[in-house]
Amino acid sequence: MPALQRSEATVRARLLEVRGYTVDLDLTRGPDRFGSTTLIRFGCAEPGADSFVDLEPETLRRAVLNGQPLDVSALDGNRLALPGLRAENELLVEAEMRYSRTGEGLHRYTDPADDAVYLYATCGPDLAAKVFACFDQPDLKAPITLTATAPEDWTLVSNGTRVKSDGGHWEFAATKPISTYLFTVVAGPLHSVFAEHDGIPLGLHARRSLAAELDREAPELFEVTRASLDRLHELFDERYPFGDYHQAFVPEFNWGAMENPGCVVFRDEMLFRSAATEAERERRAMVVCHEMAHMWFGDLVTMRWWDDLWLNESFAEMLGYRIAAESTRFTGTWTGFSVQRKGWGYDADQRGSTHPVAGNGTRSVAEAMVNFDGISYAKGASVLRQLVAWLGDDAFFAGLNAYFADHLYGNAELADFLGALATSSGRDVHSWADAWLRTSGVDTLRAEAERDADGTLTALTVVNEGERPHLARIGGYRTVDGRAVPVAAAEVEIGPGRRVAVPALVAAGAQWAVPNDGDLAWAKIRLDADSWRAVTESLSSVQDDVTRAVLWEHARDLVRDAELDPAGYLALMERHLPAERCDVIVETVLGFARTHVVGRHLTGAARTAGLAAVSRTARALLADGGSQGIRLAAFRAAVESSGGDEQLAELNGWLAGEGLPAGLSLGAELRWAGLARLAALGALDEDAIAAELALAPGTEAEYGAARCRAALPADEAKAAAWHLLFTPDAVSNRLLEATARGFWASGDPAGRARYALRFFERIGEAAERGDIIAQLLGQALYPVDQATPEVIAAAETALADPALSPALRRNLADSTDDLRRTRAVRAAFGG
Ligand SMILES: [Zn+2]
Repeated sequence: MPALQRSEATVRARLLEVRGYTVDLDLTRGPDRFGSTTLIRFGCAEPGADSFVDLEPETLRRAVLNGQPLDVSALDGNRLALPGLRAENELLVEAEMRYSRTGEGLHRYTDPADDAVYLYATCGPDLAAKVFACFDQPDLKAPITLTATAPEDWTLVSNGTRVKSDGGHWEFAATKPISTYLFTVVAGPLHSVFAEHDGIPLGLHARRSLAAELDREAPELFEVTRASLDRLHELFDERYPFGDYHQAFVPEFNWGAMENPGCVVFRDEMLFRSAATEAERERRAMVVCHEMAHMWFGDLVTMRWWDDLWLNESFAEMLGYRIAAESTRFTGTWTGFSVQRKGWGYDADQRGSTHPVAGNGTRSVAEAMVNFDGISYAKGASVLRQLVAWLGDDAFFAGLNAYFADHLYGNAELADFLGALATSSGRDVHSWADAWLRTSGVDTLRAEAERDADGTLTALTVVNEGERPHLARIGGYRTVDGRAVPVAAAEVEIGPGRRVAVPALVAAGAQWAVPNDGDLAWAKIRLDADSWRAVTESLSSVQDDVTRAVLWEHARDLVRDAELDPAGYLALMERHLPAERCDVIVETVLGFARTHVVGRHLTGAARTAGLAAVSRTARALLADGGSQGIRLAAFRAAVESSGGDEQLAELNGWLAGEGLPAGLSLGAELRWAGLARLAALGALDEDAIAAELALAPGTEAEYGAARCRAALPADEAKAAAWHLLFTPDAVSNRLLEATARGFWASGDPAGRARYALRFFERIGEAAERGDIIAQLLGQALYPVDQATPEVIAAAETALADPALSPALRRNLADSTDDLRRTRAVRAAFGG
């Protein structure tokens, strides 16, 4: 059955008005199925018209429309026709649904730590029909009233406030009108912590085996939650509208988090099992703020259709970073945005699949999935940040408040947002939107300089080589005793294709210049050659964190564009990272160096040498006595990049608890990462993996063992992993991901090349296993380092298959773009 088309959704929205859903779930029917009975009351604007309801049952027991039974055998894929509607209708649907193991619909998880069972529902973007019968499109909002039967020792949380729980029977109050993709219920023997803030009841929930972690993390989570609520209440006229505010941490969740009104769901890795870096805490705080911002952007006012996904994600992303920086102790979130998040967006915006921020062209809901990407998040947020700088806070938030007031509990589109901003600001936001929201691609801001004999600038020009206007700061520096000293900065507005002189930096005696210093612009930068040389000599001495982040991101961009030798990037890392003070920069640079520069672009002896450079840098950071977060980030990289007899002996010592760097320990995840490294090097066997697994069973052990087994270099181990990866329903989404992650960690070159070709022969099959599995395999198993003409040709053949789902096609196309970049880097620099 094809996915819902926009044209169908438009017709249905014009026809129907949903009064409300009453959903009753029976969660006591065993490990495979649950009961789902839905009563939908809805109006129809054209009595006599036909429509259809969405549902994906295992078995459809009964469907009754206005007292008349419908023929259940008429269910066509995930649609049941509703003939001859009246002005007011009642539809009753009784069905049995399948539990999911892929995080799509009602996911069921058995905790390996204690065999307790947990469930949670993911309904976005078009999965609600796997849980209850509904009109599954964002602009048919309705109150949802949930009742459920569950084992007596379970706790349930959902969007609505709990009214009653008695002997396993649960009742929740009707929600405010919400879109179907925002429904959730979380169930199981949960461990919970409660609080209240400003009259709003707060709850934190996790599975029982994470009780200690939840208790440990609860104070910080509540602190961020309270600060974020306060700040949003300052910014918005409308108070938080959805009653209680629950935050549940669930296993095997596919995304970072999901903004279900009143009941946000997070992946439970965010309840850190072992020591976390400050960067990880900061990211988590940002996600807490992001999801809360969605209560307004997305939940209270929802995009009419998925082509305006940015109205949800770009705003939540921008506010997530901003609110965390403004109102929590994590004041440095924009550094992470610059060095980590924006790269995701720049990459996306330079691929063949790039699209405008607004109006991403989604025609069917199957295409909606592919736009949860670096453009809808990072680029959209960056562009909005520039808009706020241009309009000022007062006009921006006045516009937003008018927009909320006009569309409360309803839906909106780009034009509604622009209209509100135009009124509040009196500025020409429509031209701005045409340039920034309706186009795609990244502009380049290039600096051109002239200098006197002492190296001081005598002229500086910034050229906008792109098609959009930019507001950007240009930073001017001198190098004094080998250290970078800022001497001046100038804000410039540069129109498309224009050149702007920056005399202020010349007057201040600057020697070198950084375009987009402060990172307000969405643009690639190119420094003049002497400025870049100065950066390579003094990068770590630049005082400002965001400036260093911009320069490290720039270096990454140069590598991807085949303008900087991978060895040059590694040299920059070895020279400057040991003095780095910001853990998110350490983590990002070591990660990019190991997985991208070494793991993709280098081969053979150069790869071995490159990995050794990463390992040396990580060990230098460990020895250097930096912050706990920096040392932890370095320790992780040291574990993952260990090679050679001496380092392997050291790694074995760490695994035995000997010689650990001061103040650090191996948590379960890092322990398994170390074991996976040994497995890949052939220094661990199946018996040892089984023994480790038996030692401390649990979620991390299960994933770790799967990764280790796939990482074993032996032919039989690769064949077994491959078989598992391509057997539908063999394992859960997360175990599949762990197996795929381990697969390419070892293997002789000929074997890897063979599997790379086989990947493209088989990957089309994944489309039948749903979007999540297709994306997991398409991403985690893509042979990213096999940049040979044969493999690229095989990728192109696979992409020519018209049967690929939109999600899989996007994945393969994007990874193939990256593979071509690797080929270009190798052509330019060898390796
Ligand atoms: Zn979001």
